[in-house]
Amino acid sequence: MKFRLLLALLVLPLGAQTTPFGTKVSDPSAAPATTTAPAAAPAAAPAAGGVSDEFVDNSVQVSPFRPTLLPEAKSTRTFQLSKLNRLGSTETTKELQRLYSAFATQSIVDGSPAGSSKAVGYLTTVTYSILQDLGDNRYLAKAAWPASGPNEALAAGVDTMALLLLEKPAKAGDTGKITGMHVGTVAVLFTPDFAPLKGRRLTLRREAFLECATLEDSPAGLQRFVEAITAGAELSATTNETIPCKKCGGLGFTREAQKGQLLDKRVPCADCASTGKLIIAVETKFVP
Ligand SMILES: [Zn+2]
Repeated sequence: MKFRLLLALLVLPLGAQTTPFGTKVSDPSAAPATTTAPAAAPAAAPAAGGVSDEFVDNSVQVSPFRPTLLPEAKSTRTFQLSKLNRLGSTETTKELQRLYSAFATQSIVDGSPAGSSKAVGYLTTVTYSILQDLGDNRYLAKAAWPASGPNEALAAGVDTMALLLLEKPAKAGDTGKITGMHVGTVAVLFTPDFAPLKGRRLTLRREAFLECATLEDSPAGLQRFVEAITAGAELSATTNETIPCKKCGGLGFTREAQKGQLLDKRVPCADCASTGKLIIAVETKFVP
């Protein structure tokens, strides 16, 4: 229900704009028809239809469009600090360092009691040039960022418009680089004040990023991390781990007996695309 309402708000203003444009450009003599068109439109869209063309509206509305979906861990395991470097245990200093690095990149520094909390979106470096101040520290910017997440779940952005929530005030033309947490796609309804869209009320659906700081991936950071776990903090890190494919036993194919033939038929394994390996997200919970 909420989604349909959002969709109506997003789609209708755009549809109402294209109709008059088409009529005006193709046949100027059809002008009277243009004025009746908006009258017909409100039947389907009471408020949204005509408003965009008739009023100068500089308000800004940002609504969520598509939330970030972090991969759910397919498997969980524990990392027990007391077993560190014991003979035969998987809890090694090297593994702890690797998992801490993952933890640091998945945590953002904030005002919570622990000083940081788990990032709820992919983190990436966003290079930007501000196009317009949308108020409340929100900015529309021309931005670029490298892909992030498993299998590039967040695709790279190249010279694309994005919405940024910055920590410090900025103005159009400012450039910079931030660590941004992707918070999904939002719909921005606003009136651009830059060419070539200047003055046209429109809705853009764009990736949105929140400026943030990640935990420090350093020996001191690792030390604090270990101390926090020892003190009872419930912390975990999610990493991609490569495991042998269960279906084919890591061979990349399964065998199928052929009637009357000596050799089995080899059937490529679909589960692992014949690689024999699977990459799955594993959540590692740390315990004292
Ligand atoms: Zn397989």
